[in-house]
Amino acid sequence: MKSYKDYMLFNKLPHTWCAGCGDGIILQSIAAVMAEMEIDKHDIALASGIGCFGRVDDYLDINCMHVTHGRALPAATGIALGNPNLTVLCTMGDGDGATIGGNHLIHAARRNINVTAIIANNYNYGQTGGQYSATTPTHSITSTSPYGHVEHNFDLCKLAEAAGATFVARATTYNPVQMRKLIRQGIENKGFSLIECMAACPTHYGRYNKQGDAAAMLKRYNELTVPVEKAKNMTPEELEGKLVTGVLVNNPRPDYYTMYKKIIDEQSAAYEAAQA
Ligand code: SF4
Repeated sequence: MKSYKDYMLFNKLPHTWCAGCGDGIILQSIAAVMAEMEIDKHDIALASGIGCFGRVDDYLDINCMHVTHGRALPAATGIALGNPNLTVLCTMGDGDGATIGGNHLIHAARRNINVTAIIANNYNYGQTGGQYSATTPTHSITSTSPYGHVEHNFDLCKLAEAAGATFVARATTYNPVQMRKLIRQGIENKGFSLIECMAACPTHYGRYNKQGDAAAMLKRYNELTVPVEKAKNMTPEELEGKLVTGVLVNNPRPDYYTMYKKIIDEQSAAYEAAQA
């Protein structure tokens, strides 16, 4: 039986994240899922973007690519199409995956590329000093909105659903057991999966918005969490500001590679028949 430790590079520790950062919980969850599924580490590839969570690949003993800001999904797409036998993961933060790379997110979902995207959403660009991103809630204080953020924020799960993602789920770092379960379901979905992992950034977002220390931020996640089944019986007003967790979309359809391969096979057969 494998352990999450089999997928970790312990010689790279201690990590560079701040004390209380949620990113480490997601890292452990990813490694634990790979162990639970007993995936051979040579059969996994991970593309990771820039940012605090993007550094997750530093600590994993699997095939990793650390790519330019916002471009992790194109790299993951190339890997998934180049070798469809691999389990392909793509790790990004909200600044990287939803803001700079937001366009890639919607098109990877639309194409149904067989990739599991794991986005750590902490509502800001942590690594560069706490600037607002596309998921920063309106009125939040960040280093670039010191008097309150005026933009409307993306609900990443709804965005992915509208773009055509076949599996969409949300978890928080308060509940790593649920997070592991959802990441596993995302990997098992043959197509594009988005797992939004709410992760506290106490250094910037928490401090600017007076949400207390890391423990207080975790407690807050618990208070805001509404399981998806319960949310079905709540009004939009009751759900305002809440974090609906669980499987939000599970709507399988053939992935991009399968559909493209079918056309190639059909056309090859037609060509062979014409030559006979
Ligand atoms: S700045 Fe925020 S997101 Fe980055 S490591 Fe520190 S706590 Fe985590």
